[in-house]
Amino acid sequence: MKAVFVDIDTQLDFLFPAGALYTPGIESICGNLAKLTAHAVRVGIPIISTMDAHTEDDAEFKQGWPHHCVKGTLGQRKLSTTIAARGQQIVEKQTFDCFSNPRMAELLFEMQPDRVYVYGVVTDVCVMHAVDGLLARNYQVSIVSNAIYAYDAGKAETCLGQWRMAHVKFPTTASLCG
Ligand SMILES: [Zn+2]
Repeated sequence: MKAVFVDIDTQLDFLFPAGALYTPGIESICGNLAKLTAHAVRVGIPIISTMDAHTEDDAEFKQGWPHHCVKGTLGQRKLSTTIAARGQQIVEKQTFDCFSNPRMAELLFEMQPDRVYVYGVVTDVCVMHAVDGLLARNYQVSIVSNAIYAYDAGKAETCLGQWRMAHVKFPTTASLCG
């Protein structure tokens, strides 16, 4: 069975307390993000990592979001433990939806995974767009239950309910990396 990991926006502006769009408590998933990355490298699972890569005046900032992940800034960098020594593809994006970069769909088409494992941040924004995009393209999707984090907990609960109805699976980090 061919697995692909999809690592959503594990960037300093989201994960570090000093980050521009930090969610309190979000750093609790960083250990699991590191384990997933190390496991993928060890067993040869490809990782597609999406990265917010905004310009100074991106449309997203006009919708009320603080300036975050501006290309070339420290906050835009990936958490170092989510950078893989090999087998990692980076997909940059300027909107919430990773499929706004055509490279996302191309990579998945080239890889032909039997199942896609999604993790990263945040559950109710960019993870949501990735999962919904994968489901719309008929991929089998698992979400690593303890390697995601909500911005708006209520909205995330609604998403999780919809994904359970769509037969998404929710393995833990330990069950995948054990
Ligand atoms: Zn953004």
